[in-house]
Amino acid sequence: RIVFEDVSKQFGKNIVLNELNFNVAKGERVTLIGPSGSGKTTILRLLMTLEELSGGYIYVDGDPLTHKKNDTGKRVAMKTKEVSAIRKRIGMVFQQFNLFPNMSVIENVTEAPIHVLGQSKDEAREKANRLLDQVGLGDKAEEHPTRLSGGQQQRVAIARALAMEPEILLLDEVTSALDPELVGDVLGVLRDIADTTDITMLLVTHEMQFARDVSHRVMMFDAGHIIEEAEPDAMFSDPQHERTKKFLQAIL
Ligand code: ATP
Repeated sequence: RIVFEDVSKQFGKNIVLNELNFNVAKGERVTLIGPSGSGKTTILRLLMTLEELSGGYIYVDGDPLTHKKNDTGKRVAMKTKEVSAIRKRIGMVFQQFNLFPNMSVIENVTEAPIHVLGQSKDEAREKANRLLDQVGLGDKAEEHPTRLSGGQQQRVAIARALAMEPEILLLDEVTSALDPELVGDVLGVLRDIADTTDITMLLVTHEMQFARDVSHRVMMFDAGHIIEEAEPDAMFSDPQHERTKKFLQAIL
């Protein structure tokens, strides 16, 4: 379970999130929608500890992620070691793939399992091969990422995230940088993961049909606040808030 408690984030004077509260249940898949700049990516990056919290707390299964309340109730930063232990349980896939360009596909997938989880090379490779099969790239293991299409690179990035056996998977507009004909394969892989695992997922996407199919709940953000949340069918067919109606009309 993920808990955001009074989470604030500002960049300089720009307050992006102001005392945001929400929970995501174990195994739940939640899609974040909302206009550009409403703070969706920032939420995922905070969970991934790629940005520092300005205020509040994030908990993963009850464990504070980067800040906790000490015995006197004061907010204190956690030690790096404590943070990395929890962070290991979270995987993220980015819009721009972010593969290591100087490594082969299989090296990309096995790097963290070997160096972070301490798996043997053989064990990591065996698992990586299985994951590459699962994302339809079993024959590309020794290939260099730059020789792959965007859709194939993104599927490697998904396999790389799954190789860490995350409890939580964060997907940040993972098809936005792809040519339209490559989007379907990537979404197919994600649907498969949604169907066959109980990984908790937080997704930011503009693919509304996909969001409708895979998510249990949709949260609509505006200026860092959740202005509406509902099950996908209700959200997309019968949005209540004017801002949501306008947003959905513009993108559907
Ligand atoms: P989009 O759909 O365009 O990705 P978003 O809802 O994901 O939008 P964020 O990327 O979270 O929005 O950005 C929220 C706000 O935070 C924006 O005003 C953005 O300019 C600002 N912001 C994000 N990252 C940084 C940063 N590293 N430095 C300064 N400002 C930032």
